[in-house]
Amino acid sequence: MSSNSGIQIPSRLPLLCTHDGVLLPGSTMRISVDTARNMQLVKSRLLKGTSLKSTIIGVIPNTRDPEHDSDELPSLHSIGTAGLAVQVVGSNWPKPHYTLLITGLCRFRVTQLLRERPFPVAEVEQLDKLEQYTEGGQADGELGELSQRFYQAAVQLVGMLDMSVPVVAKLRRLLDSLPRETLPDVLASMIRTSNKEKLQVLDAVDLEERFKKALPLLTRQIEGLKLLQKTRKLRPDDDKRVLAIRKGGVFPGRQFSLDEEVEDEDGDDTAMLEKKVKAAAMPEPALRVCLKELKRLKKMPQSMPEYALTHNYLEMMVELPWSKSTTDCLDIRAARVLLDNDHYAMEKLKRRVLEYLAVRQLKSTLKGPILCFVGPPGVGKTSVGRSIARTLGREFHRIALGGVCDQSDIRGHRRTYVGSMPGRIINGLKTVGVNNPVFLLDEVDKLGKSLQGDPAAALLEVLDPEQNHSFTDHYLNVPFDLSQVLFIATANTTATIPPALLDRMEVLQVPGYTQEEKVEIAHRHLIPHQLEQHGLTPQQLQIPQDTTKDIISKYTREAGVRSLERKIGAICRAVAVKVAEGHKVSRVESPTEQHIKQSVPVCSYQNTENKDEDSGIASPPEMPIVIDHIALKDILGPPVFEMEVSERLTLPGVAIGLAWTPMGGEIMFVEASRMEGDGQLTLTGQLGDVMKESAHLAISWLRSNAKTYLLANGSADPLEGTDIHLHFPAGAVTKDGPSAGVTIVTCLASLLSGRLVRSDVAMTGEITLRGLVLPVGGIKDKVLAAHRANLKRVIIPKRNEKDLEEIPAHVRADLDFVFASTLDEVLNAAFDGGFPAAVNHPQVVSKL
Ligand code: ADP
Repeated sequence: MSSNSGIQIPSRLPLLCTHDGVLLPGSTMRISVDTARNMQLVKSRLLKGTSLKSTIIGVIPNTRDPEHDSDELPSLHSIGTAGLAVQVVGSNWPKPHYTLLITGLCRFRVTQLLRERPFPVAEVEQLDKLEQYTEGGQADGELGELSQRFYQAAVQLVGMLDMSVPVVAKLRRLLDSLPRETLPDVLASMIRTSNKEKLQVLDAVDLEERFKKALPLLTRQIEGLKLLQKTRKLRPDDDKRVLAIRKGGVFPGRQFSLDEEVEDEDGDDTAMLEKKVKAAAMPEPALRVCLKELKRLKKMPQSMPEYALTHNYLEMMVELPWSKSTTDCLDIRAARVLLDNDHYAMEKLKRRVLEYLAVRQLKSTLKGPILCFVGPPGVGKTSVGRSIARTLGREFHRIALGGVCDQSDIRGHRRTYVGSMPGRIINGLKTVGVNNPVFLLDEVDKLGKSLQGDPAAALLEVLDPEQNHSFTDHYLNVPFDLSQVLFIATANTTATIPPALLDRMEVLQVPGYTQEEKVEIAHRHLIPHQLEQHGLTPQQLQIPQDTTKDIISKYTREAGVRSLERKIGAICRAVAVKVAEGHKVSRVESPTEQHIKQSVPVCSYQNTENKDEDSGIASPPEMPIVIDHIALKDILGPPVFEMEVSERLTLPGVAIGLAWTPMGGEIMFVEASRMEGDGQLTLTGQLGDVMKESAHLAISWLRSNAKTYLLANGSADPLEGTDIHLHFPAGAVTKDGPSAGVTIVTCLASLLSGRLVRSDVAMTGEITLRGLVLPVGGIKDKVLAAHRANLKRVIIPKRNEKDLEEIPAHVRADLDFVFASTLDEVLNAAFDGGFPAAVNHPQVVSKL
């Protein structure tokens, strides 16, 4: 600026009115010009002028010039800055305007406005004498001290900035070369200040006052910077982020050191992975693939999407238990004790499991069959699997296969897919961290099939001992040895297991429990387990055997014990509330009161309730709380299953059949009615084809034997002028199978003869057109269902007699079995006093 020292501004200046900024001497500013008067000024003065003087204009701040030419000029700010228009740029978009680049020279005061149109021109007085600064050198007194302080603050500020930025370096040099008196203007325009503050600096004509106005602004900026630096130090991530942004090239000076840092991190990461790969003890093929991928990873920039994919793949590979395994600690005697302790009953299953384990102990490399436990839900299939893992001292992992219909679920997705991942087998191995766990493949009968391939086919490879030592997951793409894994499968029925899969497994049937077994299981396992889960002790809650029997017969109808366990859980919750309430009150009780309470004899849940109501205050219940049948009704509500068997057999045309479902055995009512018609048979109740055929068989047999049993009422055909409707109630489940044949015959015989079927008889068996009874399956479950329903007599095909061996002795003793080989025997056993035929056949009744 010292070069400007000789410039004298003209005494008449054209005035440019601005509103959106304050031009200070020594600074450069961009001003947008679009009002009529300002545009005129630019056109006729700046664009046409030829001398240097014609490019000097007066910039008056804080004045908005009206848009229209005719509008009156608003009152002008009295002090402005004379500026040199360095550049003029014109544009027509979005509307005609100019952009001026103006460098401020010095202050002036408007003494008189000479004209307003087409642009204002005024008589001005120059305020800053440019030469005065350089003449006197260093000022003394207060001004000198102020300028010194200002200079030091300015140096401090520049010191805090990044010297590698060229502008900052230039400013540092300017600080020493510029006269001190110009510093307030120069710095006030550079640092963060509002227009109002800049205007105050502009209005401070007196130098001393100008320093005083600008100094606080400068110190404020310094403090702000200090604060910023402090917070950055606290958050080093931020620093990194800022540095990373700078890496983009804004501060080229820093680039090298930064790159080194990042590269170090990269290097660390891959080096670490490399170390892990080498430590993972993989087999040769896997190691080769890993090293190849590592090599690729090192060459890849981190920002590439494939980097993350490869990285994840390698992480997966190193985490797999290629050669990590647990040592089996098998002791058959201990295993027997453990299995017996964990599970009541299920002798056959436990015996087979022990055999299996014993063979493993003798020959550890055994490629034995895969055990598959088949039975209704809640009979302990999963829990036996868990016990096997415990007896062997192996890790246990359950893979739920229900609803899996994509083979990638088993075998993984190829790495080319977005979001690809390994299948459940490999994922399970990663979770357990050893290569010889017990894998429980739960619900293999519920595998689905879809367009994405057949998961059962993928399972074949997993389960085949000849193949699974080199199981290749699509994601890994290298073989993994599964031969050490012990697979156990569970299913509710073998009917829906694909034959090829079933062929590789040894099926062990796990039938449902009898009521007595359930009571034992409840008292030995379920109740203690639920008490523990709810934080209760046997001293707080007691469930007598009679109550358990009530829960089993009135609140559950299942082959397993899962809903029994839930009901016990519900009781525990209800009691836990009582106990917790009691705790609260007992804290404020006096010791004597407590003593009295403790000596009160055992009291039931219900009694304590009544007591609470009577007294109106919540007193703690006496322990233990015993659940009697009233308390049971209170907690679980009215009984869900009432035995209405006898009620339903009060009319002719109703008989009880026995059915097998994947949930266990069930009793099934068959109802028939007749009406006038022309011999039509209507069947309802969601029946399958086999069942419909049985119904037709039954009718045909009855028609052909109507005379023998006196069913036709004198006419030749009992169905003459009659329609028959046969219905199988019991839910909206499709029923199929041949075993309802005998029941349909009995039901129709009852309808046609008008006699009642005995209300305590249930039956099962397939029939032939000639009246023979053929054997059927699921006898144990069916007999147990009849026992559960409190029926007394069970009619089963003669050839099923051998199946009774599986049934517990006490159940056999409770029931009266009739083994029938002809329909005649069935009918004789189903009706009180037999079913008289023209020629009497001997009745076969056996009681075991
Ligand atoms: P599943 O796999 O057959 O559907 P779970 O193994 O899950 O049935 O068994 C359900 C519950 O019943 C578990 O808490 C289990 O401990 C218990 N349970 C089933 N059978 C027995 C048994 N024989 N002895 C002890 N507890 C049993």
